[in-house]
Amino acid sequence: MAAWENPVHQVALRGVRMDAQTRCAHYHSLIDVIALKHPCCATFYPCHLCHGELAGHEAMPWPADRFDEPAVLCGVCSALLSPAAYIEADSCPNCQALFNPGCKSHLHLYFEMETGA
Ligand SMILES: [Zn+2]
Ligand SMILES: [Zn+2]
Ligand SMILES: [Zn+2]
Repeated sequence: MAAWENPVHQVALRGVRMDAQTRCAHYHSLIDVIALKHPCCATFYPCHLCHGELAGHEAMPWPADRFDEPAVLCGVCSALLSPAAYIEADSCPNCQALFNPGCKSHLHLYFEMETGA
């Protein structure tokens, strides 16, 4: 197992075999270009599996009362989005990089969702 810390982005960011656009060993298609901040350790990870392998503790979803804080990193342009903005967006509002629509099916892993969807 190898962890990369990525100096391109000016945030605490770790992932398993992560590339410069925050694709990781688990999610590495063209559009897997975001990393998500975890409130348990205030660190961005490309996915929940990276957190599971590297963090050594249980992941906490981002709390619903903090959805206006920057917790989503665009791996293409380093823009920080709030979860509220990310959930509404199909692509990065700053660089127009497309986001993987498949991520939306497991938002509850990263964000405290009222519906649990
Ligand atoms: Zn954590
Ligand atoms: Zn991963
Ligand atoms: Zn972007």
